[in-house]
Amino acid sequence: MNLAKFPRRGYVTDATPIEAVPAFSKALGGKVNIFIKRDDLLPGCAGGNKTRKLDFCIADALEKDSDTIITCGAVQSNHCRLTLSWAVKEGMDCHLILEERVKGTYSPQASGNNFLFQLMGVKSVTVVPGGSDMMGEMKKLEAKLSGEGKKPYIIPGGASNTIGATGYVSCAEETLQQLFEMGLNIDHMIVPSGSAGTHAGVVVGMVGCNAGIPVSGINVSRPKDVQEGIVHKLAQETAERVGVKGSIAAEEITCFDSYVGPGYSLPTDSMVEAVKLLASTEGILLDPVYSGKAMAGLIDLVRKGHFPEGANVLFLHTGGSPALYAYLDTFMD
Ligand SMILES: *Cc1c(COP(=O)(O)O)cnc(C)c1O
Repeated sequence: MNLAKFPRRGYVTDATPIEAVPAFSKALGGKVNIFIKRDDLLPGCAGGNKTRKLDFCIADALEKDSDTIITCGAVQSNHCRLTLSWAVKEGMDCHLILEERVKGTYSPQASGNNFLFQLMGVKSVTVVPGGSDMMGEMKKLEAKLSGEGKKPYIIPGGASNTIGATGYVSCAEETLQQLFEMGLNIDHMIVPSGSAGTHAGVVVGMVGCNAGIPVSGINVSRPKDVQEGIVHKLAQETAERVGVKGSIAAEEITCFDSYVGPGYSLPTDSMVEAVKLLASTEGILLDPVYSGKAMAGLIDLVRKGHFPEGANVLFLHTGGSPALYAYLDTFMD
């Protein structure tokens, strides 16, 4: 793959660290060696996975001479926080459409990412009910802003189109190079699977490099079959874009849906345990909506003996810790 041919802004200046987490591994029985790829430490306000995608998406927006970004997400969206942060850095306006997926959860005074939207000077926030046609809402705003002489560019939810997913193809290449330099042979990789660009991009990168490292996604909202279909479709389209020969086999896409709990963004006991355990053994912060549930999945798979004894398992930490501050009641005794 020659990813250099795609326009990008250069937001990812260095490889994010891959760290061993021995105390955490020991707390899980010590039979599996867990490593964490620290994409929570990516640049952009408070870090996280969307920076890799936005590096390509905002480059596309600027190539198209746009001066305004419109995007969407949930009420505590990390994607919205990072899109706004990079738009600010580029001197562009940024408008957000927030979907109130859980009724009554939007509050203009809320902490976490919502507070950061205000702090970074979001141009407008439009809150719409759960289940709304988000692309339709963004198009309406696009028409209005165009009428006012702006040049808006729409980034879809999670920046999960083929342009954004290219950022995670690049992450897979970066990871393989680092593992080579470390002399570390990884047997399995675990990633959170939400709007699917991260999962799809990593799979395309691993398959495109013939890595032979299986990748499993932990769902944060949808049932297994539905999510696997969404990831597979995006992976195939992304593979075509970046020039991976042949198609991505359906068997390359595996999702686990047992850790979603009552629904997207709703706390589970296993998420709380995962967040507390990683914080108290390694001083690393997960988040309640994505990385906490994904780590709950990894913990359960380790306890169930899903990985052979002595396996090296790499967890992709996609960030999101600002959302913790909107969930204080969930964590405080
Ligand atoms: C968006 C997000 C994810 C999920 O990534 P997708 O590409 O949407 O599947 C995981 N973790 C965090 C912290 C996120 O903000």
